[in-house]
Amino acid sequence: MIFLKTDEEIELLRISNQIVAKTLAEVAKLIAPGVSTAQLDRVAEEFIRDQGAVPGFLGYGGFPKSICTSVNDQVVHGIPSEKVILKDGDIISVDCGAFINGFHGDSAYTFPVGEVKPEIMKLLKTTKESLFLGIEQAVEGKRMGDIGFAIQSHCETNGYSVVREMIGHGVGRNLHESPEVPNYGRKGNGTMLKTGMTIAIEPMINLGKRQLVFEKDGWTTRTIDRMPSAHFEHSVAVRKGKADILSTFEYIEQVLGTKAI
Ligand code: MG
Ligand code: MG
Repeated sequence: MIFLKTDEEIELLRISNQIVAKTLAEVAKLIAPGVSTAQLDRVAEEFIRDQGAVPGFLGYGGFPKSICTSVNDQVVHGIPSEKVILKDGDIISVDCGAFINGFHGDSAYTFPVGEVKPEIMKLLKTTKESLFLGIEQAVEGKRMGDIGFAIQSHCETNGYSVVREMIGHGVGRNLHESPEVPNYGRKGNGTMLKTGMTIAIEPMINLGKRQLVFEKDGWTTRTIDRMPSAHFEHSVAVRKGKADILSTFEYIEQVLGTKAI
């Protein structure tokens, strides 16, 4: 069942998501060649706890860390590790959750590391654009397929492929709840969107083929053809006329400056 949130609950979700946004900005300050993904995780966990929140991902389904760090051909759910050292030209999706006041925040951003090839920067930019095109559709009276269609058509027009196995989701007292929010779909199809629905929209877009494989750790997914993948995510509340974005990239992009996607 879909839990519709009151305005008060949506404000609590905004608090959780603003903590996530600021955590991602702290992580952004550190991203550079030579840094391990375990270092990013430590900074994220400490910052989240300093805000009085709890890392939403830590222990979720047995996930061992506070953020997901997915590098290059890894799509999502990469596990931070001392062994994964960022190199010039990499891209890294950082997905973060924070839980406070009974509600989860959930947002993700894909960062360039040093100098990244223009064709990969274009993948990042197109994926981020598709997120905002999807968000434009998250208004009362539209249907879930309108969100997926907006994301899919923008990415496929640009020659990219849309991951099907992993999708967005409702977010609230649970990190993942109904409804499902696919990044593909048909206009006018699927669940009717209503004020009070709070959903995480998170396109995962591949430069090459859309198919994924699981790595041996049981969590990390990567592209079958080992081509890069990008991932951007916002948590939003469905409203009349205009979606209300509860997370923000503002703090991240202040840190990135001209390197913002
Ligand atoms: Mg997420
Ligand atoms: Mg999510």
